[in-house]
Amino acid sequence: MSSLTAAQHALRTTFGFAAFRPGQAEIVAAVLAGRDVLAIMPTGSGKSLCYQLPALLRDGLTIVVSPLIALMRNQVAQLCGCGVAAAALNSANDPRDNRRILDRIARGELRLVYVAPERLAKAETLEFLNGAKNGGKNGTKIAMLAVDEAHCISQWGHDFRPEYAALGKARAALGEIQTVAFTATADAATRADILAKLFARQPDVFVHGFDRPNLRLAMQAKVGSRSQIVDFVAAHRGQSGIVYCASRRKTEAVADYLCEEIGIKALPYHAGMEPAARSRHQDAFLQEDGIVVVATVAFGMGIDKPDVRFVLHADMPANIESYYQEIGRAGRDGLPANTLTLYSMADVRLRRLQIDESDTSEEQKRVDRQRLNTLVSLCESPRCRRQTLLAYFGETAEPCGNCDFCCDGAQLIDGTIAAQKALSAMVRTGERFGTEHLTNVLLGERSEAVEKFGHHRLPTFGVGQEYARREWRSIFRQLHGAGIIALDITGYGTWRMTDAGRRVLKGADRFTLRKDVLKPGRKAARAAANAGTMADAAPAAAELFQALRRRRLELAKSLGVAAYVVFPDKTLLDMARRKPRDLTEMAAVHGVGETKLRQYGEDFLAVIRDHGAPPS
Ligand code: ADP
Ligand code: ZN
Repeated sequence: MSSLTAAQHALRTTFGFAAFRPGQAEIVAAVLAGRDVLAIMPTGSGKSLCYQLPALLRDGLTIVVSPLIALMRNQVAQLCGCGVAAAALNSANDPRDNRRILDRIARGELRLVYVAPERLAKAETLEFLNGAKNGGKNGTKIAMLAVDEAHCISQWGHDFRPEYAALGKARAALGEIQTVAFTATADAATRADILAKLFARQPDVFVHGFDRPNLRLAMQAKVGSRSQIVDFVAAHRGQSGIVYCASRRKTEAVADYLCEEIGIKALPYHAGMEPAARSRHQDAFLQEDGIVVVATVAFGMGIDKPDVRFVLHADMPANIESYYQEIGRAGRDGLPANTLTLYSMADVRLRRLQIDESDTSEEQKRVDRQRLNTLVSLCESPRCRRQTLLAYFGETAEPCGNCDFCCDGAQLIDGTIAAQKALSAMVRTGERFGTEHLTNVLLGERSEAVEKFGHHRLPTFGVGQEYARREWRSIFRQLHGAGIIALDITGYGTWRMTDAGRRVLKGADRFTLRKDVLKPGRKAARAAANAGTMADAAPAAAELFQALRRRRLELAKSLGVAAYVVFPDKTLLDMARRKPRDLTEMAAVHGVGETKLRQYGEDFLAVIRDHGAPPS
């Protein structure tokens, strides 16, 4: 059997997957051939399998470095669920457990061991592993070092972790060990950093498409009320989801009113909470169905839950990279998932201030500002969201048919005159004011400041009454997105005109306005909300799906594992469609490998049988 054929076989029998996902096969082949590999693949594309499969097929132990204990636990639980000998060494374990794991390594019983970077860097760990490698005790061989979330090694990344800095040294201490690294961060600077800091020689580099076609993308300007958040979450009742907020206080407030107003289980999560409550909320999210976590960005990395059905940004994310990472936590199982991002000019100002006041180099600030500006343009872009997003990653695409722009259409109108009015108001007031004051001038409202500066005497005073205040706010955002006006570097939200703006003011260039975002209505999020719930399937199949989920929950509770460790939704959906009648048919269901077939096959067959006569 060629090594790739063997890999295909193990894919089926161990993991229950029928085929490799795009990109996996060539990476697995390179790893099996003993080459060093750096693979850059989007979240949910199946990176873990690229080192887990080779680890199974070869002699020796694979050391996996992973940044978070929750992440390790998750992976180990899933591997053990598939019958793979894996364990995690970390500080949260009882020291006796860690000792036992070391004994198992020495006896050559484990295929994969997950280790936190700071633990791997310790002299005693390296000594132990080297001893094992050189045939100490019973001669465990170390086959390779796999580094997950490898962007944590880079200062440029959005997730730099000092404990990753020592990884290069640890690798060197393990000798000429095969090294493979994985990340979802596309950035060129980050990539170069990983190459320089982690690898002893040039690895094979694989970069895979960043498109996540199953994610629906949508963005709306905030209308300043709860309804956008409440309506969106209510449309996803019964599904797991994440609501991201910019502040700790807001996470608690939003969780409260979601519980009150629509009666769902919404739990806050932020770094200021007591650790016990925090992990209780995280565990509930991972283990139970239909929980919504309302969180700051503290919640995220390591949330390896495949069936998150929506991500809602109640405030604008920090930048385009964060946006992509955060929405990427939805729909890792490949089933449809919904995302919505709410934004406002105040959000943009806050993010700018955060960058300016951050404790980083000028270089980093420049990079961050650029990433923020890219996100603002995406919010107000007059074309398909996915095209705009992928363009940032250097990919071209057709209009996707799965974003708000493609589906709901965006009405484009000529906004040149509106732009000229706004620009004229800016220029005549000395480019020293922000949206609110300029809007007062355009609407002809004599606010205190307007009178104080004598702006009611300007020729522009009151020339913009064809638009409402809310519409002018959107026009300013769109002018910003189009690069016609720029925020003053002070971060106080004052606008100045760019060179592109000068051309529009002179009438040399035109400006296109998205009319639909001028009046963000209460668009129901129903369309994508039913995704992955079988609401579109025949009622009988949908009922069976619910029955299978109930059985899964019982099994998960009795075994003390997360529901998706038993079977992910995708497996239950496939099962409800196929209605297997015996173990042979059950083995063909997506995600049913040999171990799970043995462990749960009969249980689920019984549910299907009880559910009515199988089709003949
Ligand atoms: P990431 O790239 O984000 O690390 P994971 O490795 O966690 O992604 O994989 C995401 C999901 O895809 C997991 O639920 C995993 O079991 C599933 N998966 C991986 N490879 C395949 C495959 N070849 N066929 C079907 N599902 C797969
Ligand atoms: Zn689109």
